[in-house]
Amino acid sequence: MTEAMDLKAKLGLDVFKPGSEAHIKIKTGREKDPSLQKMVRICPAGLYSKNEQEEVSLTVDGCLECGTCRLVCGNDNLEWAYPEGGCGIQLRFG
Ligand code: SF4
Repeated sequence: MTEAMDLKAKLGLDVFKPGSEAHIKIKTGREKDPSLQKMVRICPAGLYSKNEQEEVSLTVDGCLECGTCRLVCGNDNLEWAYPEGGCGIQLRFG
C-alpha cells in the first residue's frame, strides 16, 4: 500500500526559477491595507509577513502562482503578473 504524501512534502518537490524581477509587488503606500494583513495568514506558501509597524512585505521566491492574493487584495494594492516565460514554479506532483 502506498502512503499518502502530505502537502508540505508535495510542495517540497516543486522547483522555482526566479525571474529577473518580482512578478508580484505591493504598491507603495498600501503596506498597511487590511487585505494585505489577511495575506499573512492566507498565502499558502507563507510569503507575506509584517513588521512591528504592521507593514506587510512580500517575497515571491516560492510563489505557487495560485492567484489568491490577486483576488483578496486587488489591483489597488498589488501589481500582479505571472513570472516571465520560463520562470516561476515548475510543479512536480500533479
Ligand atoms: Fe502567495 Fe498565491 Fe499570492 Fe503566490 S499567488 S504570493 S502563493 S497567495
